[in-house]
Amino acid sequence: MFDLLLRRARLVDDTLTDIAIQDGSIAALGEINAPARKTVELDGNCYASAGWIDSHVHCYSNSPIYHDEPDSVGIATGVTTVIDAGSTGADDVDDFYALTRKATTDVYALLNISRVGLIAQNELANMANIDADAVKQAVQRYPDFIVGLKARMSSSVVGENGITPLERAKVIQQENGGLPLMVHIGNNPPNLDEIADLLSSGDIITHCYNGKPNRILTPSGELKSAVTRALQRGVRLDVGHGTASFSFEVARRAIAMGILPDTISSDIYCRNRIDGPVRSLALVMSKFLAIGMSLPQVIACVTANAADGLRLAKKGRLEVGYDADLTLFTVASTPTLLVDAEKESLQADKILQPLAAIRAGKGYLTEQGSAQNAFDF
Ligand SMILES: [Zn+2]
Repeated sequence: MFDLLLRRARLVDDTLTDIAIQDGSIAALGEINAPARKTVELDGNCYASAGWIDSHVHCYSNSPIYHDEPDSVGIATGVTTVIDAGSTGADDVDDFYALTRKATTDVYALLNISRVGLIAQNELANMANIDADAVKQAVQRYPDFIVGLKARMSSSVVGENGITPLERAKVIQQENGGLPLMVHIGNNPPNLDEIADLLSSGDIITHCYNGKPNRILTPSGELKSAVTRALQRGVRLDVGHGTASFSFEVARRAIAMGILPDTISSDIYCRNRIDGPVRSLALVMSKFLAIGMSLPQVIACVTANAADGLRLAKKGRLEVGYDADLTLFTVASTPTLLVDAEKESLQADKILQPLAAIRAGKGYLTEQGSAQNAFDF
């Protein structure tokens, strides 16, 4: 007998399927005529996808600057997995790991190459904070938690050090089995061209559609040639919306040229969650629907693409044997004013509304899901 059976779930290609869950994994798909302890009839009224993965959040609750609770940015908003992008380095990763064990949301970390992590804005201004041995020991302590490395390469973070922290990050990456490296771009120096030239296949540029002068586009609106070359080598683009790192203008122009994001992520923490402009991963995803990406494209960016980029082998797909992490959602016809990080706004007709998340086979309603009394899990 299955633990949970979802009947007639709508997939993003608009086909309907039953989904059976057992022991925290997806056990069967298709038309299922077998008993289950609990059956939820969806009747094609809502979509089901693999659980949404937010590839860039900040949820170390003891961080003095960018803190939040994993479940506030995760399960409460329909997101089943979050990747904390460098809130902690080797010094605080033990504390962070222990805190995440209490969360319902599945939490992973990109370890900051600076051992002090985000205790201040300038964690790479002192080269002594980049301690390769400390990184290696942390990765060995938490091989299933630390899924990659993070280096923030903007002027306020690196101080006088320019490109040097990234050169060190690439060496550290090689010393740790070639883990994915996420690189934050922002104000220069260092210039984006210099950063992009150092990146290799599987590395991730986050804040890819930021509107700062050091953006991916030239002043005439073409893709910078160093970025073109990086993408040809297999470098990935991550949105990382954040408080100051997403421009509709840049995203629209890039997408029109076929430069789509690999992953859509929020860079959420308590302030930009509560006060905007981020608010939730669903709202960030809705912005990409509003500027012309299709629903299957948007969902792929928070499921299969995110799992592939961060090597989460059992996540991101609705297939037998994968983790029973799912997001149940609707595309609501609710006119909504969407605002980017440059205070530009656009009127959207439709927004994504997560109603529930299923994490390791167990169902949790979101705020909207509770208000609509959507399902009885
Ligand atoms: Zn961030």
